[in-house]
Amino acid sequence: MKNISSLSFYMLLICGAVLLSNSQLKAQMIDPDKNFDSFKELFLSKYWELNPISATYNGLHDYDELLPIPNMEHYENLRQEYDNLLELLDKIFVEELSASNKTDYYLIQNLVDSKIWYLDKYKAHEWNPSIYNLAGAFDKLINSKQSSFEKVSSISQKLKNIPEYYSTARANLTDPTLEHTQLAIQQLEGGFDVYEKDIRALLDSKIKMKKKKSIDLELVKRDLNAATKSLKEFVDWLKNDLLVKLNSKPETARNFRLGHELYLEKFQLDLATAYTSDEIFRKGMGEKKVIHDKMKTITKRLWPKYYGYDLKIASMENVRQLIDKVSENHVSKDEFVSSIRKQIPELEKFVRDKDLLYLDPKKPLEVRETPAYMRGVAGASISAPGPFEKNLPTYYNVSPLDNYTDEEAESYLKEYNYYILQILNIHEAVPGHFTQLVYANKSPSLIKSLFGNGTMIEGWACYVERMMIEEGYGNNEDEMWLMYYKWNLRELCNALIDIGIHSKDWTEEKVLDILINEAFQENTEATEKWKRAQLSQVQLCSYYTGLTEIYELREEIKADKKDSFDLKLFHSDFLSYGSAPVKYIRQLMGYGESGSLNPQKP
Ligand code: ZN
Repeated sequence: MKNISSLSFYMLLICGAVLLSNSQLKAQMIDPDKNFDSFKELFLSKYWELNPISATYNGLHDYDELLPIPNMEHYENLRQEYDNLLELLDKIFVEELSASNKTDYYLIQNLVDSKIWYLDKYKAHEWNPSIYNLAGAFDKLINSKQSSFEKVSSISQKLKNIPEYYSTARANLTDPTLEHTQLAIQQLEGGFDVYEKDIRALLDSKIKMKKKKSIDLELVKRDLNAATKSLKEFVDWLKNDLLVKLNSKPETARNFRLGHELYLEKFQLDLATAYTSDEIFRKGMGEKKVIHDKMKTITKRLWPKYYGYDLKIASMENVRQLIDKVSENHVSKDEFVSSIRKQIPELEKFVRDKDLLYLDPKKPLEVRETPAYMRGVAGASISAPGPFEKNLPTYYNVSPLDNYTDEEAESYLKEYNYYILQILNIHEAVPGHFTQLVYANKSPSLIKSLFGNGTMIEGWACYVERMMIEEGYGNNEDEMWLMYYKWNLRELCNALIDIGIHSKDWTEEKVLDILINEAFQENTEATEKWKRAQLSQVQLCSYYTGLTEIYELREEIKADKKDSFDLKLFHSDFLSYGSAPVKYIRQLMGYGESGSLNPQKP
C-alpha cells in the first residue's frame, strides 16, 4: 500500500466495499470497530505518504525513497490532505467505538489538528533552519535491516532531490531566529559524516544487484557529491550570511519566544493533558514550596553527619551547602559512559527482586555514545526501534564529556553525582523510558505505539523515579531522598521556566535565578537548560505534567482498592495501553473522564 494517490485513497475509503467479500462487508457494517480498523489502516498509509521521513524514523521502509521538496505547493497539498482527513474523522461515530478505539480516534484527531496548527500558525519552515536536517533519516536508513541493494536504491532517489531541497529551504527561511540558526549550523555540521563517510562506505561495499534492476553506482556517487555540495553551501549560507546578519542586528531577528496565545494552543495540542498551562503553573508554584520544606527537614537531620554539629533551623542556603557537599560524590570524567553501562543490570535486578514490573529478558538495551548529529540538545536519551522493527536494538545514547573543559566537567559531574546518576538511569532506562517503550511496542494498537503521547512517556519516567525510591531503592537514605527532591524540583522547574519564558517573557536572569537558587542547579546545567528552553517549547512541561497525572491516578486507585491494590498489576495495566495520554488511560482503567483536579469515579 505505497504511494497511493489522494484520489485513490479516498476512493478506497469510500468504495472500500469493492475490496471486501460480502461477509467481510456485512461484518464491517454491523461492527463499527472493524470499520474503524480499516480506516486506521488507510489513515496510516496516507499519513506515511505525507510524512515519508517519519515513516523511515519509525522503521517502515516503504517510503524510504521519497524526499518531498518543502515548497509552498507541498505545504498547500498537506493542508488540503489534512482537511480531508478531518472531514472523514467527522463522519465516524466515535461513541460507538470500543474504549481502545476511542483513544485511537482522539489520538488521530489530535495529530491531524496539530499538523494543521503547525502548518497554519507555527510555521517552523520560515524560522527554524534546524528542521532541514536529513542526516538522521539517512542514518536510520543505513542502519536498517534492508538489503544493501534496497538501501542504495532508496538513497539514490532521495539524493537526487537534495539540491532542490536546500535551495527551497533557503527561500523558505524568511524570518529565522538567531538561536535556531546556531543550532542548525551545529547539527548540520555534525551530520556531514553521514554523507561523507557512511553513505560513501555503503556505496563502496559489496552490493548484490537484482536481475534487471541494477543501479549505476557511478551515477549515485555523482548525485552524492552534488547533494553534499548543496548541503555545505546551505550551511555556509547559514554561517556566513544569515548568522552574520542576525548577529549584527539582533533586534531585527525573530524572537525565539512563542508568545502567550500560541503557547497556550501548543500546550493543549502537544501534551493532550487534562490540565491547562495556567493550572500547571499554579500547581507547580505551590508544590515548589512543599518540596523546599521537605528538603530543609532532611538537611537538618543530615547536617551533623557532614558538619559535626546541629542546626537549629535549616535555611535554603544550608540545603544548597549540603547538596553541594553530597554532590562531591561522583564518577570521573572518563568513567561517565562506562559507569552508566555498568548500572543497567543492577537496576534490572532491583525491579525483578522487588517484583515491581515484568522485564522482558529478550529485549536488550545497548549503551552507546550519542552520534554526533544528535548532540547539542540533551545529555542522555533513548532511541528505540519502532513497531515495524521490533528486533533491532534499543540504544541508550550518552554524550561523553570529551568536549568539556575540566571545570565544565566538574560542574556537570556534580550535577550528575552518584545519586542523581542512578535516578537518571532509572528515568532513561530501567524501569523508565526503555521499559515503557518495550511495553508500547507490544501494544496491539499501532496508533498508540506510533503516535506516543510525550506527557505519558515523560510522566512515566518521572513517576518510576519516585516509585523506585519509595520501594527502597537506595536504602531509603536521606542523601538519596535529598537528591531525589533536587531532581524532582528540576522537573517541576522545567515546566515553570518553559511557561515563564514563552508566555510570560521571563528573562535569562530570572530563569537562571530560579534554576540555581530554587532548584539548586549548577551553572552549566542551568545555562544549558536556558539554551534548550529557547530552542523548544512545551516539551519541558511534559515531565511534571505527566508525573502529576500518573501519581494522582495511582493514589486514587490505591485509595479505591485498599488492601487489594497490587503495584505490579497497576504498572503492567497502565503500560498495557501504550503511550496514550494519561487522561484516556485513566478512562480505560475505569477511573472517570478527567485527570484533572476533580477526578470522577465511575
Ligand atoms: Zn525523559
